[in-house]
Amino acid sequence: MTALHMRGVVLPEAEERDLWIVNGRIRTEPVPNAETIVDGGFLLPGLVDAHCHVGIAAEDLDQAAEQARIDRDAGALLIRDCGSPIDTSPLQERLELPRIIRAGRHIARPKRYIRHLADEIEPIDLPKAVAEQAAAGDGWVKLVGDYIDRNEGELAPLWPDDVLKQAMVVAHEAGARVTAHVFGESALPGLIEAGIDCIEHGTGLSDDAIAAMADRGTALVPTLINIETFPDIAAGADRYPRYAAQIRRLHARVRPTIAAAIEAGIPVYAGTDAGGGIAHGRIVDEVIALHETGMTTENALGAASWDARGWLGWSGIRESSAADIIAYDADPRLDLNALRTPKRVVLRGRVIR
Ligand SMILES: [Zn+2]
Repeated sequence: MTALHMRGVVLPEAEERDLWIVNGRIRTEPVPNAETIVDGGFLLPGLVDAHCHVGIAAEDLDQAAEQARIDRDAGALLIRDCGSPIDTSPLQERLELPRIIRAGRHIARPKRYIRHLADEIEPIDLPKAVAEQAAAGDGWVKLVGDYIDRNEGELAPLWPDDVLKQAMVVAHEAGARVTAHVFGESALPGLIEAGIDCIEHGTGLSDDAIAAMADRGTALVPTLINIETFPDIAAGADRYPRYAAQIRRLHARVRPTIAAAIEAGIPVYAGTDAGGGIAHGRIVDEVIALHETGMTTENALGAASWDARGWLGWSGIRESSAADIIAYDADPRLDLNALRTPKRVVLRGRVIR
């Protein structure tokens, strides 16, 4: 296999460097007879979609693969899959697809999530279900933290605090991290106090919850482009006027809420929620939304690239690290829209574009 050579300004260090790629790995020392595939421009560690669902609304693995391919073509070379009803682990052997870190299936209660998506269990069985999904996934477990309680007519937590504490211990002992879907306010204190590792959406964050997350280092993936659909969710919830009002209220305060979380120093990462009502392939829209919500362009890039990769156990562009690199002509730090036009995409050391 011919070695490849790339030259460009490597981010985030912003140094012009030569890189070589051999057997899927980056080399920083010259390799003879390498083919130059990029000479000039900017080199970014492959983008990350930190909240994606490959396999939702897919009839089979081929359709799930097509979803992942669309994400890849938008630049997402690493996906944290936040819950899929089908086992997509065979896709991890398809070298042309992004790397996928799976959370197994969502864990929810009967009638307390989208039908047919989750492993539906009673609260007392949560620790057992968490152990099963920790074993089935790749180091992440996904809980549904709150959802509409149709008897109450509004968002409510799914799990008692004491069961959550047991579940976190079980996950952490199994070497897995836990995250939860949370739209509202009331589920957050119990999840954060139980030691959850990440919150998805987080539209209901109070100042106290933000302070607690900052203190504990709990991550946040706000999925801003998904929150944009809240008015549609509210419009479709005529039968639950209090819930609809709650969703509208959460939507109205999303920008200041997430801005406060960023300001407080909570680690915030870019995730689209593709598959959950959002089309695949929109990671750049989420990066721009994070910037518009208060992140510097550089931090918004990090939230979808080097910082997110580090959080998920993958490195950026350095000696011996995986050769997942995207080359751009224009500097994305000056205009994030540059991310929409990659000139070269290298995944696992292979040119795929
Ligand atoms: Zn989701």
